[in-house]
Amino acid sequence: MDIREYTSPTLPVAQFVERYVDTAHYDTGCRGCDNYGQVWVCPPYDFSVPDYWGGFREVCLRGVQLRFSPEEQARSYDPEELAERLRQLFSRTARQMILRLREEYPRSDILTVGGCHLCEHCTRPEGRSCRYPEGIGYTLESLGCDVSTAAEQLLGWPLLWSRKGCLPEYMALVCGVLIR
Ligand code: SF4
Repeated sequence: MDIREYTSPTLPVAQFVERYVDTAHYDTGCRGCDNYGQVWVCPPYDFSVPDYWGGFREVCLRGVQLRFSPEEQARSYDPEELAERLRQLFSRTARQMILRLREEYPRSDILTVGGCHLCEHCTRPEGRSCRYPEGIGYTLESLGCDVSTAAEQLLGWPLLWSRKGCLPEYMALVCGVLIR
């Protein structure tokens, strides 16, 4: 598997929000997700989402493509095994990406994808506080961001997904960097 990394141009937050973020209905797309209300980095939130975006000056996206070989794309996988394999691959890659972005942008918030990757089991369902409140990053999509459109327009490529046990040319992780 080949890995390629891309960084978008940096935009003023107001411009990014106007183009790609629906703050009024920020959690509409999240309500059917298993993570809704189960992970501290996912909605519902106890803070104002527009005020959160407004606390930053600029934003850029960092996207990583996990590219699959023609042989891997030609194979047919058991869908459940493939889903588990991808879950592990994405968790590992997201963790590495987030740690690296935190070093590169120490005073910024890093928005992630697909929930939190820091603990095996989140404390939220038990009503206990987050174990690493300083280390978490909210998910881009849960703050109302249309990640597909933003990635396509700012990184220059569409998001692709696996279908019926088959891998596409690549799958991607997209993080947001919110700069103060
Ligand atoms: S760091 Fe752990 S406790 Fe906090 S949101 Fe992530 S999974 Fe939940």
